[in-house]
Amino acid sequence: MKSHAKGVVIGGGVVGCSVLFHLARHGWTDVVLLERDELTSGSTWHAAGGMHTINGDPNVAKLQKYTISLYKEIEELSGQATGVHLTGGVLLAATEARLDWLRGVVSKGRYLGIDLEVILAKEAAELMPLIDPKQFVGAVRNKEDGHLDPSGVTHAYAKAARKLGAEVERFTKVEDIVRRPDGLWRVITNRGDVITEQVVNAGGLWAREVGRMVGLELPVLAMEHMYLITEDMPEVADWNKKTGTEIIHAVDFDGEIYLRQERGGMLMGTYEKANKVWSEFSTPWNFGHELLEPDIDRIAPSLEVGFRHFPAFQKTGIKQIINGPFTFAPDGNPLVGPVRGLPGFWVACGVMAGFSQGGGVGLALSNWMIEGDPGADIWAMDVARYGDWATMTYTNAKVRENYSRRFSIRFPNEELPAGRPLKTTPLYDTLSAKGAQWGVAFGLEVPLWYAPEGVKDEFSWRRSTDFDHVGSEVAAVRNGVGLSEISSFAKYKVTGEGAAAWLDRLLACRMPKPGRMTLAPMLKEDGKLIGDFTLANVGEGDWFVAGSGVAEQYHMRWFEAHLPKDDSVQIKSLGQKLTGLAIAGPKARAVLAKVTRADVSNPAFPFMAVATIDIGMARCLVGRVSYTGDLGYEIWMPPEYQRAAYQALITAGEEFGIGMFGSRALNALRLEKNYGSWAREYRPIYGPLEAGLDRFVAYGKEAGFIGKEAAIAERKQGGKLRLRAFIVEATDADVIGDEAIWHDGVVRGWVTSGGYAHNAKKSIAMGYVPKEIADRPDGFEIEILGKRHAARIQATPLFDANFERMRA
Ligand SMILES: Cc1cc2nc3c(=O)[nH]c(=O)nc-3n(C[C@H](O)[C@H](O)[C@H](O)COP(=O)(O)OP(=O)(O)OC[C@H]3O[C@@H](n4cnc5c(N)ncnc54)[C@H](O)[C@@H]3O)c2cc1C
Repeated sequence: MKSHAKGVVIGGGVVGCSVLFHLARHGWTDVVLLERDELTSGSTWHAAGGMHTINGDPNVAKLQKYTISLYKEIEELSGQATGVHLTGGVLLAATEARLDWLRGVVSKGRYLGIDLEVILAKEAAELMPLIDPKQFVGAVRNKEDGHLDPSGVTHAYAKAARKLGAEVERFTKVEDIVRRPDGLWRVITNRGDVITEQVVNAGGLWAREVGRMVGLELPVLAMEHMYLITEDMPEVADWNKKTGTEIIHAVDFDGEIYLRQERGGMLMGTYEKANKVWSEFSTPWNFGHELLEPDIDRIAPSLEVGFRHFPAFQKTGIKQIINGPFTFAPDGNPLVGPVRGLPGFWVACGVMAGFSQGGGVGLALSNWMIEGDPGADIWAMDVARYGDWATMTYTNAKVRENYSRRFSIRFPNEELPAGRPLKTTPLYDTLSAKGAQWGVAFGLEVPLWYAPEGVKDEFSWRRSTDFDHVGSEVAAVRNGVGLSEISSFAKYKVTGEGAAAWLDRLLACRMPKPGRMTLAPMLKEDGKLIGDFTLANVGEGDWFVAGSGVAEQYHMRWFEAHLPKDDSVQIKSLGQKLTGLAIAGPKARAVLAKVTRADVSNPAFPFMAVATIDIGMARCLVGRVSYTGDLGYEIWMPPEYQRAAYQALITAGEEFGIGMFGSRALNALRLEKNYGSWAREYRPIYGPLEAGLDRFVAYGKEAGFIGKEAAIAERKQGGKLRLRAFIVEATDADVIGDEAIWHDGVVRGWVTSGGYAHNAKKSIAMGYVPKEIADRPDGFEIEILGKRHAARIQATPLFDANFERMRA
């Protein structure tokens, strides 16, 4: 075994082998995979081997499509059969709500290049003869579903990687990982040490144990999972004989089951409600090629539905039940990427669908390790979407919830209850008493809207019970003044003698003068966005930065990786050590003036001013800015002052009819201003020109900034896409995000977000289209729940296009 390597991959399951293959294919051949046993000694060997392109997140779906397309290549390169059967499949809907969901999936597929088609239940039964069509209301046909041989695929990756020059060491257990003073990693195994720059934790069932070696508690947990294999079935034999083809895959969402042909019989797997965690706290090292005891009672309710939906199962015997564990992250998507605070330590774990996702995970991770960028938008599987708050108990609650809902519908207005409330602000009880309906962002409870007594969200794809109430919250802001809790923003404090120069290079904007703020896009070397912030110069060399709450860990990882080595700059994420309130609307200044002795008149405290001001008794940092696009203020205070500041504002606001507003109203307000937001409109695949943030980029900044050359090139060449706001002729349902945008009868773009703008009384969608058509006045349609609705571009904001209200 080599004693030095550029990279070490820990774990020879499908994921580790894919990572190794991709690193080698990308040119890193001085890499070694360490496996404590034979390859596939974790969850990989007993997998059902199913593969699918669909995923709730379109970017993950793209990587799944890539994974499936890869099998031919690795088979040819390695000479190892992967056993791929690209049978195609049907996704079945037993309810209208499910069919609505599937229509959304089809809409996404259109711009992802995934060939999906809504079909009738009887057409599904013609394709998949075991279905009882009376049990379903419709289906979607997917030509890219199939199954494969899990062991064959894993060995094919490993053999292909070896052919390219990488090494695989079996029966080599990593026992510890130590960071040396020179920054290299010492990977300690039962067969000696390997010194390396880069370590990948692809430990699968043991990912937690490998993480703990470097002091990391990863939010992953294994669940038991069962599938059964039937005796040979005459229906299967007849079909094979009649058509010369295998029985295609089926996913029966409402039965929570999946099925496919397995030799002369069928395989049926289920995500049962009464699920069971496996090895809650740590995974035994002596577990390997074993199976767990089947427990048919646990899956009986799902099987009952399965046997009703697929009656041929009632007449056949069960040959075998497989029960094996595999790992999940709290939201069911993989955990991939570099770990904040551990340079050169990467994770590729929590991969619950290794045969659909393993290739994409390997591709993204190898790009990231070699090029410094994953090369795709992988936010949905970035390990940085979790922070320290994702504890073991939280993970346990969420993983169980996720498993039991694997095939359940999640409506756009549905908030999942497990693991909550976790983080709350001091106002939680006060706002709950006012009817706050809570959502969650980065573990923090966030008010979505305020419901009158007895009213709550009815889950739906269409406008629901909150509609009129959110409309009233919007009206309170636009007609008078509204107050909202904004603690969910990420807040950073930057100090030190080098702070200004560092921020100047990190951010693409011009630096504001003391007492001023600016919008601050942050770019990567390739000129694409990696953040958008509000940057405030609070004076005396101190800086305050506010950005997307969900991206706190993501941005801290970036900030810390770019800090100078000489300690001249300190950055601190304030998290909930700083809470916030916002007031907005034409009467906002009047309310503010009542609670402070400071001069908050327009000349003294103009748009984008920032100052430390007493709000009642509480000392706060106040910025004159509002995401509502109205006259407004963001007010920041340590949590111990939040109630006092809130009370002062609410009392002062009484005479102006102050009303509470939540994030759904905020969404409605920002949409009529054409404002985008991080993780929706602004993501690391768009350039500032494409995203409409170019006006905040100081292209001529002498000091330069990260991504400057690429940003200038984008400006010269014009980029490829444009972000646009559309008014949609919608009736009872608005866009959610990820819908297809059609132009002249062809799918040309995708929706990033949208909703109903109550003040303008318009349904609005924001999304990207090619620049060539981005200024066409008409010809657009946006697909909602399978129906195309006429849409037109709204170039100027519907509200306060001349910024008169905002700057007054
Ligand atoms: C019953 C069942 C059915 C499934 N069906 C499907 C399906 O149809 N489709 C699908 O896509 N997925 C399916 N899965 C999930 C799939 O098996 C996983 O997504 C996949 O196996 C994850 O692979 P991995 O490489 O991340 O982890 P693992 O397979 O667990 O591999 C991790 C490897 O790392 C090694 N290792 C760990 N720690 C160390 C160490 N310290 N030193 C050296 N080596 C170490 C282990 O020995 C192991 O070989 C199923 C799983 C089960 C249990």
